[in-house]
Amino acid sequence: MTLTITGALLAGERVGLRAHNGLIVEIGPGVEPQPGDERVDAAGAILVPPLINGHTHAAMTLFRGYGDDLPLMRWLQEKIWPVERRLELDDVYWGTRLACLEMIRNGTTRFWDMYWHPAAAARAAHDAGLRATVAAPLIDVDGRSEQMREGALRSLDELAGADERVDASLAPHAIYTVSEDSLRWIAEVAGERGLPVQIHLSETEQEVTDCLAAHGERPARYLDRVGLLTPRTVLSHGVWLDDDELELIASRGAVVVTNPVANLKLAVGGVFPYPRARSAGVRVGLGTDGPGSNNSLDLFADMKVLALVQKHAAQDAAAIDALETWDIATGRRAPLLGAASALEVGQPADFLLLRAAASELSFGELPAALVYAASGAVVQTTVVAGRVLMRDGEIEDADEVLARALDRARRLGLSPPLASVRVDELA
Ligand SMILES: [Zn+2]
Repeated sequence: MTLTITGALLAGERVGLRAHNGLIVEIGPGVEPQPGDERVDAAGAILVPPLINGHTHAAMTLFRGYGDDLPLMRWLQEKIWPVERRLELDDVYWGTRLACLEMIRNGTTRFWDMYWHPAAAARAAHDAGLRATVAAPLIDVDGRSEQMREGALRSLDELAGADERVDASLAPHAIYTVSEDSLRWIAEVAGERGLPVQIHLSETEQEVTDCLAAHGERPARYLDRVGLLTPRTVLSHGVWLDDDELELIASRGAVVVTNPVANLKLAVGGVFPYPRARSAGVRVGLGTDGPGSNNSLDLFADMKVLALVQKHAAQDAAAIDALETWDIATGRRAPLLGAASALEVGQPADFLLLRAAASELSFGELPAALVYAASGAVVQTTVVAGRVLMRDGEIEDADEVLARALDRARRLGLSPPLASVRVDELA
């Protein structure tokens, strides 16, 4: 399959792009479609790389608006955990499909997911056409280490070779929900199989205090001692990391994904120390966290909050600039997250076309317009591996995906009050 885009704006120049078998085979002025190519007329559109969501729990779209404004532990104990005990494969599948729909609409083409029934999430990402790294959260504080390990191996088997765009990983939930023995076991399995590891780390000050009390060292030091701080590790949050931990993380080559909106909404009381992380050489990405606790999957919003909160915390408007923020959101500051290195021949044909006529993009420099003025609504067309997932704002199956997700939420007793589309009403 070959796709040809013509007339797009790239760095002020009109260019075309041809994609064949998922890769860019031509890009530049004068690229013309060949007979049989699928064509997109991109006149009046800006060509940019896509966004990467470094941390989410995608299927939690079903829990959006359920238990908002509660403190974290009450939200989990009274709302989320009781419903999650009743989750079925189809809940995760349709919840993830809805998340994918929103990500396609907002220009995100790859996401790192940590949620139950990862094979269903992987199938959803596959069917939606996105790229993803998926994993079940591993928890054994209830002493059920054997079941947890069996479940982890089973889900790796289910995910093996399912899709070239969807990778498996291991996801110990956090250092306070997985035993030291099991963390070492996870490090061993990940090392043997070359798998990435996702973990929540240093999200709250309590986690640091508890880690010091239990292990006599701070969370990143502890994670390193059990063998889990490697170039394949993605640490989510990192709000309370100190300078020693940041240097250690940088020296091990691990990635920190900051989730500023979720941190603010859950009132964790701090901000990821980005300027110090940058000085130490830490690789950094951006995530939304789950749509149950954000509640949006529009990374444009998170990009702006990232820049604002870092400037505010540093009391320095120059603490981070728009281009740097854009680079973080597109995965350029953390290669492990899976971004292509550039829009050039031989690279995956993953890209966005933005509405150049949008007034938010019409003034000033593009990076500042993207980070401070735009929302995901400026995305007009989304392409992954040379396949057009959204064309001029239209996504195939969008009505059905929303209707099915609403149905699953109703089945779980969440009765969305604004539900307007039902599966039985679809034509
Ligand atoms: Zn999370």
